[in-house]
Amino acid sequence: MTTLQGIAASPGIGIGPVHIVDPEETEVQDGDLRVQDTAAEQERFRKAIRESSVEVRELREKIALETGEEQARILDAQIEILEDPEATSQTLAVIERERKPAAFAYRRILTAVAARLDEVDGEYYRGRAIDVRDVRRRVLAHLGGIRAHSLSDLTEPSLIVANDLPPSEMALLQRSMALGFATDLGGRTSHTAIMARARGIPAVVGLKSATESAQQGAIAIVDGTRGVAIFNPDPETLAEHERKRERYRELAAKLTELKDQRCATADGRPIWLGANLEVPEELPGILENGADGIGLYRTEFFYLARKQLPTEEAQFNAYRSIVEAMSPKPVIIRTLDVGGDKFASYLGTPIEKNPFLGMRGLRFSLRREEIFRTQLRAIFRASAYGNLRIMFPMVIGLEDLRRAREIVERVKLQLRKEGVAMAQNVPLGVMVETPASVFSIDWLSQEADFVSIGTNDLIQYTLAVDRGNEAISEIYEPLHPAVLHAIKMVVEAGHRAGIPVGICGEMAGEPLYAVVLVGLGLEEFSVSPYLVPEIKTIIRASTYGEARELADRCMSLHTPSDVRTVVNEFMSRQYPGIFVPA
Ligand code: PEP
Ligand code: MG
Repeated sequence: MTTLQGIAASPGIGIGPVHIVDPEETEVQDGDLRVQDTAAEQERFRKAIRESSVEVRELREKIALETGEEQARILDAQIEILEDPEATSQTLAVIERERKPAAFAYRRILTAVAARLDEVDGEYYRGRAIDVRDVRRRVLAHLGGIRAHSLSDLTEPSLIVANDLPPSEMALLQRSMALGFATDLGGRTSHTAIMARARGIPAVVGLKSATESAQQGAIAIVDGTRGVAIFNPDPETLAEHERKRERYRELAAKLTELKDQRCATADGRPIWLGANLEVPEELPGILENGADGIGLYRTEFFYLARKQLPTEEAQFNAYRSIVEAMSPKPVIIRTLDVGGDKFASYLGTPIEKNPFLGMRGLRFSLRREEIFRTQLRAIFRASAYGNLRIMFPMVIGLEDLRRAREIVERVKLQLRKEGVAMAQNVPLGVMVETPASVFSIDWLSQEADFVSIGTNDLIQYTLAVDRGNEAISEIYEPLHPAVLHAIKMVVEAGHRAGIPVGICGEMAGEPLYAVVLVGLGLEEFSVSPYLVPEIKTIIRASTYGEARELADRCMSLHTPSDVRTVVNEFMSRQYPGIFVPA
């Protein structure tokens, strides 16, 4: 049995026989052409590009119709690669000068492009590398290369294991044939993740060695909610996951019933349970799962999914449609949070030695005021259409908030002058993601209308552990006493100031932590849409008194392992069948 931890990309449990997709490599022939054949070979190459282009455009249309325009746009990058004049002229040159077959030449050139992209950090570039390889495979197939196995040929429902999956392959896959995905590469926002979520297929990405650990035809498990893949499971693990899968199915069946039940502890303390949104495709899931609103709209994905700055109008339309669809429920729009592991070359974010300590979040917005103002204009225009709040990321103190507020006021004044309709009151909140904001929380709470704890970063900065570094992931411990004390401090300061305190990092969506967090006094949670029913079920089954007792006990402990033991014990006692002590 091999257990791999990756990134939870699309929730649910998939169990079944493995089908390994081997994107590498279409076989092509080497050898030298005769001089008199090079012109015909060049023409054959041009034809292959034209035909591939037509195919990708058709595929784009199919995705647009079946899954939506936003997803179809993923293929625009491939069209661009296909029509890239440089790759074409270089291939033509190799055919002519070196007298190499077109397939051989094109493969060499695109392989080099993909390798260069692999070397650049960041999800955007990883995505481009996958696109380049997908284009290469397609063109080579047209040139007579032996086509690598396609997912559309699958005849038995399978767990699909791959290095990564190009969107074109995913689009061709029949829903009923995919029990789950496990990939070596990719992040939460990679193509595979987005498309799996949109199609409701469990997926774990970024497993690094899934293709190495998997065995064609052998049984495997994908737990897309917790980000785990298990190959060749032992009988107990298999049975445990079959139970879990059952529970998911039951939860899904109860969804409509649960959807209309309010989220409150067993003794009636109301908890606002919202969902996090990254891409508009998640909106139906949010509505279906009965979230109380959107507690974190990560607007940067809107910026990262394109090649140039989105206009005010494009942003306004996107924000408006989300705010309108959720109305009267609130939508907390977080202003652009680029930097760290999220960047787009057109934004001109600098290459930094320590990007997580660099030009991130609000720091970027305050230095690039024109981009910030455009976003704020779009947000305020959208505020007329529903219940909207604004939140600033990566705040380290009062000056950040004051400067942001000043710009907000100027934008509002200008919009008023222009006679633009806006909501009367748009609360401004700060994210607590840094130790500095924890220690400044008393002052921040005096001036912010609400605060939301971003535990993904708060844990990273409090424990000085890179949130994306697999090698030290065991130090990334949400139950570390330092983290719990930081959360408690923020909650108490917020309550003293009479403002709401929420939590929106991944920790909020982890069922194991739900009761402790309620016990620490948090009253607003925002989690991945598909986790809403599970978190709601857990919150509803304990009293606030029990939660407080558990949290108090945890607060008295001094090591993460002691806290974890106590939480595990409590949860497996209180929720038998759901939690098995880790
Ligand atoms: C966080 O840091 O917890 C958070 C919600 O923001 P992000 O994950 O987008 O950095
Ligand atoms: Mg963050």
